[in-house]
Parts: sequence; C-alpha cells; structure tokens
Amino acid sequence: MEKSIFQIPFKVLKRYRFYRRSQFWTKTQIEQYQDKQLIKLVQHAGQHVPYYRNLFENIGFDTSAFRGRIDMHKIPTLGKEIVRTRQKELIADNARKFGITWDSTSGSTGTPLHFVLDNAVQANKIAALLRSYRWTGYKLGEKTFSLQSYYFKDHNFKFNRFYNILRFDSNKLKKDSALKVIKEINRIKPKFFMGFPFDILILSRFAEEEGISINSPQSIVTYGETLSEKKREFLEKAYRCKVFDFFSLHECAAMISECEHGNLHLIEDFAYHEILEEDGIRRLVGTSFYNFAMPLIRYETKDNILLPEKQRTCSCGRHFQIVKEIIGKQCDYIEIPDGRFLGSVMSHSIDNARGVVCSQCIQNTVDQIDINIVVDETYNEDSQIVLVKGLRKRLGNEIKLNFKIVPQLEKSKSGKTPFIISKIGNEYI
Ligand SMILES: [Zn+2]
Repeated sequence: MEKSIFQIPFKVLKRYRFYRRSQFWTKTQIEQYQDKQLIKLVQHAGQHVPYYRNLFENIGFDTSAFRGRIDMHKIPTLGKEIVRTRQKELIADNARKFGITWDSTSGSTGTPLHFVLDNAVQANKIAALLRSYRWTGYKLGEKTFSLQSYYFKDHNFKFNRFYNILRFDSNKLKKDSALKVIKEINRIKPKFFMGFPFDILILSRFAEEEGISINSPQSIVTYGETLSEKKREFLEKAYRCKVFDFFSLHECAAMISECEHGNLHLIEDFAYHEILEEDGIRRLVGTSFYNFAMPLIRYETKDNILLPEKQRTCSCGRHFQIVKEIIGKQCDYIEIPDGRFLGSVMSHSIDNARGVVCSQCIQNTVDQIDINIVVDETYNEDSQIVLVKGLRKRLGNEIKLNFKIVPQLEKSKSGKTPFIISKIGNEYI
C-alpha cells in the first residue's frame, strides 16, 4: 500500500491525544500496557518475522505462553551486528500492510545500519516527542530556532513560515555564518532553541568572542549527543535559560526525556526499557512497542544509563522511571581548515558504504583526518567511493582523508569507541 502523507498527521494527532493521557498513568497502568503491547509484538514476531520464527524454534520459546515483561529475559538480546547482517530476515513477511519507510543510522558508534520503520512507529515517535517538547513549554507553531543537518544548497539558514522555525544548517557552522544567524535570532527572538548541544554551545562561543549577546530563549532542547553536566552549565549560563535534554534512537527502541522538574524519565509508554548490568556496565536494551514491520526485540542500544539507587515519584506526577545519567554518544568534533566545526552532524556520513562494520574519524592535524574502518567480505572499491562521497558531503574537498582498514578501532581514555576522536585540542568543550 502506498503511504499517503495525509495518513501520518492524523495518526500523530490520535497518538498525541493518547500520550497526553498516558503520561499520568499509575505504575500499574503502565505495566499492564507494557505487558499487553509486548505480548502483541512477540506473538507477531513469532508468526511473521523469519528471524524470530527460527530463533524461537531453536530455543524452544513458546510465544503462546509468553506473559510480557516477566518473560522478556527468555529472549536473547539483539545486537547491531545481527541487524546489519540479517536485515532481511528481521522484516515481517506482512510488513507492507504496516506501511514501510527505510531509515539508516550510524550514530556515534560509526556502525552503519539500515532498517525499516512502519507508519505506526513513526507516528508514535513524533507524538511522543511532541509531548516531551510540551514539558519544556513548547507548543506547535511557537517561534523556534533549530540547529541541525539540513544540507541547504545555497543558504546557511532559512526561516520556514509554516512551522515558524529558523533553521540553521550545522554543516555550515563557522564564525561568519554564526554571526549572521545570531543577528537574525536577535531580530526575530525565537522562544525555543533545539539541536545538538555542541553546536549550540559553539554559537555562544562565537558570540562571546565578538562581544555580542544572543537573545535569551525560554528553553533549549538538546539531543543527538550526551549532554555532560559541564556542557549543560555552559549552555544555561550562556543563554540564561533552562536546558532540557532528550535521548531517542532512529531505531525507535528507546526514549528518555527531561521533565519540568529537571528529571530524565524513561518514556515507558513508547518503548520497554531494560538495564542489563554486566562487569559494572549498565547497558540500555530497548524494545519499541510499535514497529511491527521490523520488530527489534531487546535491542542493544550501545548506550549505558544509570538509574538512581532508589526510584521515587517525580514531583511532575508522572510514574515513568527516573534516569540518573545517560552515558554514551559523547561527541568530539572535527575542525575543518575553512573554519567550520563538525560534531554530531558527521553521524550519517558513512551510512551507505557496503561492507563497513564500524568506522572512526581521527583528527591529528587540522588539514587531515584518518578514517579507520573495520570491514567484512562485502567491502569493495565501490564501498570506498561511497564512503568518500558521504564524508566529502560534510567535510568539503579541502581536508585530506587517509583510509585505513584496521582489525579494531581506537578507544578513548574512558574506554569507549567514539566515532570522532580529536587530538588537536578541545577548548570549545
Ligand atoms: Zn518528572
């Protein structure tokens, strides 16, 4: 069935009404809903998804006896590697009836992934995000400044009248373009800023260097990379307003949002979140309730989170569990000879290169970058061409790229394997 653009907004509206109510459910209501959704999803997966059909048969897992949360541990977790190599088997044999859109991500881990999202999960994601934005004071149509990858051809920024959004392309982030957009911000005075924290911070640094002040918004919404306490403090001081942090995945397997009272909450009516502890590391594993076209059950997000020792009810009145800290997606940045700074905008640059298992950009000097890649047998000359194209689209043609096929990637001091490692200083973070 062809996807109609008119179907999605109606679905979003319908789901938004649902989320407005479900945010104040009791703990029991949340748990009952989770069980009901998990049963539906797991039974569907056992019936229609080849990967799960085989897996359940091999491990002797009977979906008709599945009771929900309490039985989730019986299903093995799903790593990115399986999604990468057995993608087709994870798509339901009746996926088309749910409406499908291909999406991709390589995120901060540099592992390119392609997957399918159906109409329902997309509508749910937008509706759940809109509800979270509401917690920051945002209402649809309110004047907003947004800083992210737009790939504008001839502009650094554009104002969209329909959505009332001033959009600045993160790929163009350098001092002269930043100063121009700041002038525009001060003229139109957006109430909300949204985007990658690093980029919003850089904007304030450019203003500070020139002795210009930026009109203070009501709130800043950040996403796309970890918001360290230090970055949050810098942002709140520079913009004289509160910062709200958000975490979500393209794969839709997890969502965390900050409420009016400054607590991060697991969005438990959107996905089922599990925290699996091993060797002192607490891995976030998530299951989206709604992606029937390609169910990812117990998906390893590769992000770690900390929960408080004891859960308490937040003053906001919601019973969604509180998250103490999100550890992951810490993003370094690349400095380009033409003066641009590229952080999280780099994250999709390697999505389409066949055979790349994972990758990493290491900057040792301002005029060149080492691209380390781990590859499998499907990697070939075309992969390299696609890789260069994706990187050049963001980096331009000036900087030199050195490709190296390596057995494993470099780790940072904290033991993580980030997509970008900068060895030329970090005075902006
Ligand atoms: Zn709260």
